[in-house]
Amino acid sequence: MIIYGPVPSRRLGQSLGVNNIPPKFCSYSCAYCQIGITKNMTIQRKAFYEPEKIFSEVKLKITQLKENGKHLDYISFVPDGEPTLDKNLGITLDMLKKLNIKTAVITNASLLWMDEVKADLSKADWVSVKLDAVNEEIWRQIDRPHGRLRLESILDSIVAFSKSYQGTLVTETMLVSGLNDRTEHFESIAKQIAKIKPEKSYILVPTRPPAENNIYRATSERLIEAAGIINSISGVNVECITEDDTEQGFFFTDNIAQDLLNITSVHPIREEIIQHYFQVKKADISILNELLEQNKIAEYIYEGKKFYKRNLNNAYKE
Ligand code: SF4
Repeated sequence: MIIYGPVPSRRLGQSLGVNNIPPKFCSYSCAYCQIGITKNMTIQRKAFYEPEKIFSEVKLKITQLKENGKHLDYISFVPDGEPTLDKNLGITLDMLKKLNIKTAVITNASLLWMDEVKADLSKADWVSVKLDAVNEEIWRQIDRPHGRLRLESILDSIVAFSKSYQGTLVTETMLVSGLNDRTEHFESIAKQIAKIKPEKSYILVPTRPPAENNIYRATSERLIEAAGIINSISGVNVECITEDDTEQGFFFTDNIAQDLLNITSVHPIREEIIQHYFQVKKADISILNELLEQNKIAEYIYEGKKFYKRNLNNAYKE
């Protein structure tokens, strides 16, 4: 299944996820990535799934949601890797327009220097671009980019895109303790945001199990300082997203095992949330144990909480 959710999103409301990239094709291997280490590091765009297949899966899910009286705010491309690596992204976004639901893409922006990526992203109603660092050394430590990528051309291309893009553009900056949470980092990011002038600048912290063990969220004090500096230098609204997911807003069908695999593939879920949905659906907890025994999902502890995450090594052997 290429579709998952809907899942609740602070930025997008009820968001139906499109997983248009198999695990894990990405141009970065961010130290904090909740999907895990990048196994397929690339900047080569290619076709992964047929746009018609994505469209028909989305359409089917929307019908299912309507039958259950569920509301949807966005169809969002938040896959197992970098969504703009899909060379059919623009065609798929065009097809989805027929469904009259807004579309969103969360991108690391590393390929925005390619004209075809700019053209594809311009078809989405809402685009979030990653801006974790403006300093080359910090960028390499936190986002761990493909060797052929150049930070300067990425930063310039985000500014160029911001001037032509007609939809809602936001930036997102993940603050990791000891990596990009010093005052000078905030100031340089703020100056870059001033050039982009997004609708909003989101500051995030890792709230789910990261790719590397030594990754910790920046403290509340650092977040408050970051928000203040970004707002005062750029004049842009800043919002911090630091909370854990809650039980509200996930959508599980009666096929709870398949839903769990689809959602945890891109979105690790806390134990309490899974237990809540097993109760709501009156599902047997042995389903979860079977998935664990079959090594299809795995348990992780992060910040003292237990999470379940898809074991992506097995995800595409099925
Ligand atoms: S966080 Fe996004 S950009 Fe970074 S490695 Fe993961 S999928 Fe790629």
